[in-house]
Amino acid sequence: MKALVKSQAARGLWLEDAPVPEFGPEDVLIKVHKTGVCGTDGHIYKWDEWAQRTIKVPMIIGHEYAGEIVALGERVRTLRVGQRVSGEGHVVGMRSRASRSGHYHLDPETQGVGVNRPGAFAEFVRVPAFNVIPLPDDIDDDLGAILDPLGNAVHTALTYNLVGEDVLITGAGPIGIMAGAVARHVGARHIVITDINAHRLQLAAQVADITPVNTSEEDLKSVMGRLKMTEGFDVGLEMSGAPAAFVQMVDHLVMGGRIAMLGIPTQPFPVDWSKIVFRMLTVKGIYGREMFETWHKMIAMLQSGLQVRNVITHHLPYSDYLTGFEMLVKGECGKVVLDWTV
Ligand code: NAD
Ligand code: ZN
Repeated sequence: MKALVKSQAARGLWLEDAPVPEFGPEDVLIKVHKTGVCGTDGHIYKWDEWAQRTIKVPMIIGHEYAGEIVALGERVRTLRVGQRVSGEGHVVGMRSRASRSGHYHLDPETQGVGVNRPGAFAEFVRVPAFNVIPLPDDIDDDLGAILDPLGNAVHTALTYNLVGEDVLITGAGPIGIMAGAVARHVGARHIVITDINAHRLQLAAQVADITPVNTSEEDLKSVMGRLKMTEGFDVGLEMSGAPAAFVQMVDHLVMGGRIAMLGIPTQPFPVDWSKIVFRMLTVKGIYGREMFETWHKMIAMLQSGLQVRNVITHHLPYSDYLTGFEMLVKGECGKVVLDWTV
C-alpha cells in the first residue's frame, strides 16, 4: 500500500510502499478514504525538537481519518465490514486506575496513532475496535476526517458552561476557529478570537459568527469597549500555545474567570501567578478528547446545526501532500484534507 512515512530523522516526509498492516483479534482494518493534516503532523514534518524526542523512525504518520472497515479481528462483534468509520487517535491501556474507572482520556499509557504506532496517512490503517467511531450517513468523509481536531475544540469549549458568557479564544488555527463555532452553537454571547495572522482571522470570520481581532493591530481593551463589555471575559479558551496570548488572556478575564488551555507551549514560560491568585482564576489543561463523551456530543451537535465544514480550505490527492504540508507550516491554510481514494 502507499503510505506517508517519516523514514528519515530529518525535515520531510516520504511517500513509500509499505505492507498492509497485520491486525490482531481485537483490531479492525480500515481502508482510508480521507485524512486531515494536523499541526502535530507539521511538527513531525519539520522535525522540530518535540518530534525528534517523540517519533521513532520509520513511522507512518497521521491520526485524523475517515474510511471504511474492510476486515475484523476474530473477537470483534460490534462492528461490520463495509461500515463507514472514523476513530479516536489515542489508544489507551486498560490497567490504570483512570481507565478502570472509565476515564480513558486520563490513561498514562496512552499511545498516539501516527505518533507512537503506525498511522492513517496510508491506504489502510489498523486500530483497536475500541477506538472505532461509526459514522452516521449525514457525516461525510470530509467531516469524518476532521472529527479528531473538532473533538479537541469540543472538549475544550464544553469544559465550562458557556451559556450567556463572553468568551475569549486565543489562536485562530483550525481548532480555535471550530471552538468559536461550538461556543456560538451552545449559546455564548460575545466570542472574540485573536491571532496575529490576518489570513487565519479572515477564515475565522467566514466559518463562525465570532469577532476576529488581530492583537498586533488592536488591543483587547478597545475591543471590549466596542462590545460594551465592562469587566472582562468570563471564559478563556487558549488555542495558540503562544505565551503572549496566555498573558493577554489572564489580563482580560473577569475576577473568578476560567481558562481551558489546549494550546501547547513549545517551552516553559514565565507567568505572573499573583494575578491568577488575586483574581481567583482557574486554569485547566485539556488533552485529547473525552472517550467517548466528546465524540457523542460533537456528532450530535453536527446533526443539530453546528457548521464547521468551511474550516477545510484545501482538498488534495495524497500524492500532492507536500503542497499541503508546506502550506501548513506557513500557516497559509485552514484544514487540509488528503484524499486516499484517487
Ligand atoms: P495552529 O498552529 O494551526 O494555530 C495556532 C494559531 O495561534 C496560529 O494561527 C497562530 O498564528 C496563532 N498565534 C500565534 N501567536 C499568537 C498570539 N500571540 N496570539 C494569538 N494567536 C497566536 O494550531 P491548531 O491545530 O489550531 O491547534 C491549536 C493548539 O492546540 C496548538 O498549540 C496545538 O499544538 C494544540 N493542540 C493541543 C492538543 C491537546 O490535546 N492538548 C491537541 C491538538 C492540538
Ligand atoms: Zn490532530
